[in-house]
Amino acid sequence: MSRHKAGAGKRPGGRAARRPGPDRARLLRAARQFLAAIGETGLRRDMRQTPARVADAWSGEIVSGYRSDPRRILSRTIPAQDHDLVVVRDIPFTSVCVHHLLPFHGTAHVAYLPGKRLVGLSKIARAVDALSRRLQLQERLTRQVVEALASSLRPIGAACRVEAEHLCMSIRGARKTGARVVTSAYAGRFRTSPALRTEFLRLSGARPR
Ligand code: ZN
Repeated sequence: MSRHKAGAGKRPGGRAARRPGPDRARLLRAARQFLAAIGETGLRRDMRQTPARVADAWSGEIVSGYRSDPRRILSRTIPAQDHDLVVVRDIPFTSVCVHHLLPFHGTAHVAYLPGKRLVGLSKIARAVDALSRRLQLQERLTRQVVEALASSLRPIGAACRVEAEHLCMSIRGARKTGARVVTSAYAGRFRTSPALRTEFLRLSGARPR
């Protein structure tokens, strides 16, 4: 889990303030420079609004996750009556690879075995959004989802499996369209129980090997 520097985003009293997030004005300047570096110096009529559109899309949506704290999203919990496995599958996400600044997108499947607390299912999808709408590595995203669940809910176990297509693999490099990268991360009981992992893989729709 990437953390802001100590004290950043915190008010005295411990309540997390809204995180600063991307700087639209700097993104606007950077977009103009990027176009100029490509060779589009004059900004033709059809491109006049492009720097503003790029700045809006990146600051408002594509990397907007820097403004959200997944642990805070997952902090509103209710007491658990029982301890049955909860699986939220097929959560769509989009992210940007930290190596090439190209999108990767796919689905995340998240599970936890409740300890004393439950969290709303929509909160899990929102936490995935908060973590994916950043510059990411798929492996790190997968691990961070598990860690956010583990630290916020203190479940008996937590698991995440992510399947994604990376544009940096399809439009450059290997140029393999349709190749999917699958990553998984486990915490708690999921690490020690192969049966629980198998149950998670089955319920989350993984193809049997
Ligand atoms: Zn990449």
